Amino acid sequence: MRELADDAVVLRTYRYREADRIAVLFTRHHGKVRVLARGARKTTSRLGGALEVLGHVGVDLVATRGELYVARHVAHRSTLPTLRGDYARIGAGYAVVEALDALPEGLADEAVYELAVRVLTTLDNPDYRPDLVPASFYLRLLALDGSAPMVEACVECGREAPLVAFDAEGGGVRCDRCRRGRALTDEGLALLRRVLGGDLATVLREADPPGAAEVSALAHEAAEAHLGRPLRALRSLTGAPGAEGAPGR
Ligand SMILES: [Zn+2]
Repeated sequence: MRELADDAVVLRTYRYREADRIAVLFTRHHGKVRVLARGARKTTSRLGGALEVLGHVGVDLVATRGELYVARHVAHRSTLPTLRGDYARIGAGYAVVEALDALPEGLADEAVYELAVRVLTTLDNPDYRPDLVPASFYLRLLALDGSAPMVEACVECGREAPLVAFDAEGGGVRCDRCRRGRALTDEGLALLRRVLGGDLATVLREADPPGAAEVSALAHEAAEAHLGRPLRALRSLTGAPGAEGAPGR
């Protein structure tokens, strides 16, 4: 039996048989894996407590003949109390794990794992507001894949002004002659540039900065275009999470 130890973010869980749970994890070294936690739904289970959506955990796993791993031991790396105590933060976290879950199977990418942990840590920091965290995560995920949207000049003709539209499929902003995609205001463009340009920590401290709704919407569209599937969690952030399961499934 092959055993492995890794760190992971819990993306999704579902019930299995009478008392078991299967958790989908994004691990640091092995990408996305499915893990069987035997007895995890019993109240006395030590596995179940840590294997919850948005958990940041260390895991000892045993490989089986199939694609499933069996959890031997699970421990919190951090308990994220501020995140877990706030529905808006939980909702933002769900939007993040949904996008991670949409990444191709078999992709092991430590940079993506580290980005995910950084985002959970940000959501757990009371100094930062959660509203723009999913958008910034989507944009960084695209950047890691070499697909950061072009925001300095029109993707079609290269003109630097006036930029009036964001084209998710085309990967960036467009001028008034080449307009396609969603309309982009000056506030939206300025905020998009700040989020992409290293000013994120300041942006996340601001209450509802101008252009926030636009940036959220266009980042969501860009992520959907890149991942090739709809992301539903961001559209239902007002819903309270269930005790079991995950968004968008
Ligand atoms: Zn143009």
